[in-house]
Amino acid sequence: MILEIGQSESMGKAFSKELKRCNRCLLPETHETLVLDKEGICNVCRAQEVKAEIDWEKRHEELDKLIEEYQGKYKYDCIIPFSGGKDSTWTLYYLMKKYPKLKPLVVRFNHGFLRPNLRANCDRVFRKLGVDVHDFTPNWKVVQRLMLQAFLEKGDFCWHCHTGIFAYPMQVALKEEVPLIFWGEPSAEYTAYYSYDQPEQVDEERFNRFVNLGISAEDMLIRLDGFIDERDVEPFRYPELEKLRGLGYRSVCLGSYIPWDVKMQVGKIKQDLGWEGDIVENVPSEFNYEKIECWMQGVRDFIKYIKRGYTRPTHLAAIDLRNNRISQQNAEKMIKEYEGRRPKSLDLFLEYVGISEEEFYSIATSHQVSPWKFDVKELREGEKTPDYEQWLKGDGLSEAEAENQIGQWAKTCSTCESSESCAS
Ligand SMILES: [Zn+2]
Repeated sequence: MILEIGQSESMGKAFSKELKRCNRCLLPETHETLVLDKEGICNVCRAQEVKAEIDWEKRHEELDKLIEEYQGKYKYDCIIPFSGGKDSTWTLYYLMKKYPKLKPLVVRFNHGFLRPNLRANCDRVFRKLGVDVHDFTPNWKVVQRLMLQAFLEKGDFCWHCHTGIFAYPMQVALKEEVPLIFWGEPSAEYTAYYSYDQPEQVDEERFNRFVNLGISAEDMLIRLDGFIDERDVEPFRYPELEKLRGLGYRSVCLGSYIPWDVKMQVGKIKQDLGWEGDIVENVPSEFNYEKIECWMQGVRDFIKYIKRGYTRPTHLAAIDLRNNRISQQNAEKMIKEYEGRRPKSLDLFLEYVGISEEEFYSIATSHQVSPWKFDVKELREGEKTPDYEQWLKGDGLSEAEAENQIGQWAKTCSTCESSESCAS
């Protein structure tokens, strides 16, 4: 394949008219879990209508009761899984402000790509609020293997992050014997896996439903036989339900108890904690509070564009459209300008997993969601973020190591029967 990345001012295929979109929020039919009703309104928008009807006062009272039930009885009152992004920062801030005597244990799973500004934010927040922090970083050599494998199988290299972020704090909960775990926003904000009617339990069912991409730690171990061993996948393993039940665990989202209002929350944490935003690749700067924690975000968004024909600007526009904060015309304009750009961080990703850019497109397009059709020639170059030079380079799989792993995958992958969807 010859790569021709367009430098022209043309908007390419971004905001493709070929995709059906929600009449209200413009999310396209390729968005996971999206269903459009007779009026052309999507189920995520409909879920937000439910949100407006919720008796939030009653939910507040439930939160008070929940805290009361657990406070002062364990080594810590609760565990707060923490990335340092806007949602977990808000969760920590809100709970500590509302319940001044609360003693949480903050658990940070470091996925390996924490940006400099994000680290500084975390340090400031921890100091200002005064909390114990449990910080864990998994082995980078293992992470590389997991990234390549998940990318091959699902077109999503973030398996280690999805699973680690949700599984590891549960392991800490068990180890420290702290039954109450507080997550941030409920998934009903963005997808229709769960509705707002029922407070969402962040449990194993949810983990298997959409967090782990249908690949358990056990599956990963089998697939990476010879490359990693049993202990290497431990941080990504969801603890046994029996043990969690023995602990009497409660794993909940703060957003099930208080209405989630991102823009207000960001304003508060900026003002009170000195939390600072950051530029994210191919996202308008006015959204500098969104997904600022990971320097691989640009690649993640780019893969979504290749697979589904839309990416973060669409997602951000959808939220603002639902809240009447942007017109459809301006939303369309923003999507056209920022989507369909090749992120500079792709160069780093290719080094990490030891593959060429041609292989990258071949693998990513094999996971394309119909009716979207990605065309590499329509791409435009994205811009470097100001901290780009500080992102770690190299130290990835060699070409030979990657080839070996791809070879092993090709031998066993079930999709090989329909050879066109196989990237090898
Ligand atoms: Zn919608």
